Amino acid sequence: MLRPYCIILTVKSRGERSSPERTGTILIVDDDRVGRQLLGTLLGAEGYDLALAGSGAEALDCVAGLTPDLILLDVVMPDMDGFQVCQRLRADARLAEVPVIMVTALHDRDSRIQGIEVGADDFISKPYDRVELLTRVRAITRLNRNRRLLLDRLQAERDRTSAILEALGEAVVVTDVDGVIEYVNPAALDQTGFDRADLIGQNFRHWHTDRRLQAYYDRVDEGDKTLAWHGELISPRRDGSFYDAVLTLAPLRDSQARGRAVGFVGVQRDITPLKQAERMKDRFISNISHELRTPLSIITLLSGNLDTLYDRLEDEKRRGMIRDIRKQAQLLDDLIGDVLEIARIDSGHVPSVNRRLNLAACLREELTKQAPLAAGKALAISITGPDELPVRGDADQLRRVIRNLLNNAIKYNRQGGQVACECRAAADAADLGADWPGSDELGAGAWAAVKIADSGVGIGAKDLPRIFERFYRVKNRGNIPGTGLGLAISRELVRLHAGHIAVRSRRGQGSTFAFYLPLSGDDQNHHDH
Ligand code: ADP
Repeated sequence: MLRPYCIILTVKSRGERSSPERTGTILIVDDDRVGRQLLGTLLGAEGYDLALAGSGAEALDCVAGLTPDLILLDVVMPDMDGFQVCQRLRADARLAEVPVIMVTALHDRDSRIQGIEVGADDFISKPYDRVELLTRVRAITRLNRNRRLLLDRLQAERDRTSAILEALGEAVVVTDVDGVIEYVNPAALDQTGFDRADLIGQNFRHWHTDRRLQAYYDRVDEGDKTLAWHGELISPRRDGSFYDAVLTLAPLRDSQARGRAVGFVGVQRDITPLKQAERMKDRFISNISHELRTPLSIITLLSGNLDTLYDRLEDEKRRGMIRDIRKQAQLLDDLIGDVLEIARIDSGHVPSVNRRLNLAACLREELTKQAPLAAGKALAISITGPDELPVRGDADQLRRVIRNLLNNAIKYNRQGGQVACECRAAADAADLGADWPGSDELGAGAWAAVKIADSGVGIGAKDLPRIFERFYRVKNRGNIPGTGLGLAISRELVRLHAGHIAVRSRRGQGSTFAFYLPLSGDDQNHHDH
């Protein structure tokens, strides 16, 4: 709010207002009322807004609520003279840049020197020449306006850059030319666990101990400050641990320093997830090679034996060897199929068909297909549940899940054992109850549930948490063929359908596998099996 004695006048003649040269607020400080008004009339006619103050104290009161574009300051005033006012203005950060024209007596050299010392920008001698006064006022207000525009633009640019840096996911570190850290963005703190105070003032060159980077710093020190560096390295965290990172370090050039480097900017990305995925892929590939070689070497061995020992072997023995060769060939085929399926899932190329289908029908059909296999082991197979269990998804993929679970239930069963299948629609997880493994981990909503329980060899507590891993197979299971990929694929496919798969088992006491998919509402009556 403006004080009552800080008079603001707007004396604009028509047409003047539109001129950008002549806008702005001028504060006139003069203890002489007539002098004040004369100046006011003169400048008001030029289109400026005016604020009038009759003393130094009034002037200071006035600027408390207003930042003028120019101050015309009389030097000789009682109580507080123009020099003191000017000094006070310059001490205030907000007002330090406001141009001040001092109005002094003619040829008063000492006053002018003193004026410059306290920060005045220009002088006008009293009695003033109107034309000279207006010219000076125009020139200085124009200069000031341009300066302000530039400063505003710079500030806006700075705010933008800083917002970008603050929002960036990559760590950004700015150092001086010797590597002393001047700025770090929030991502740098997140990545390293350090506080800002830990880092500012430290030397970034001590951050990494990488030899290549040290060699780079040596070259920088030898004078080559135009170089940039890019590479992967191990980066430390505050807690003493390390992470994989990729760093780009580039000189910051300053046009005012003739393009010389005035510092360095480092941008560092945490590539731990990328590295982990790479390691997993490497392990996967080495596992595949191993798994493919096993049946292949058995085939080679058996066929070699068959060839060399053919005449010495009885028919039954030969047939047995041929059966074994075919079994291994089948395994090889399964393995290749499973690996391709996993590769497809990993590459994200699994078609996500979102058709409404009847899961109960899929279960029954897969059961019928595997009946001969079960009969070979004299297994008793049962199925309970509704005829309709609507879900949305891809029938082939969901059949594959059912096939894997059923196949395991038969494969790892004992002679004359049982396989009990059940499917159900559940209004929510609580509706299913403790008989359904993993149902307590389900989220809200209605679920289509499928359970396959067998009376087979079961799975020990040590193996149980790992059986969904790729290639994980429980040891000492005789020679039951398998790829170790069936459950891993099943889990991925169920996950792709926003579902959940779980197991409960004890060694020697059979296993119960269950999977759950979001139950489809009655929005459509079209079924696609
Ligand atoms: P595999 O091709 O070896 O059957 P899976 O991924 O289907 O691969 O299963 C991984 C391992 O989990 C199997 O090797 C087996 O040891 C164990 N397993 C899976 N299902 C059962 C089950 N119903 N009963 C006992 N063990 C099972």
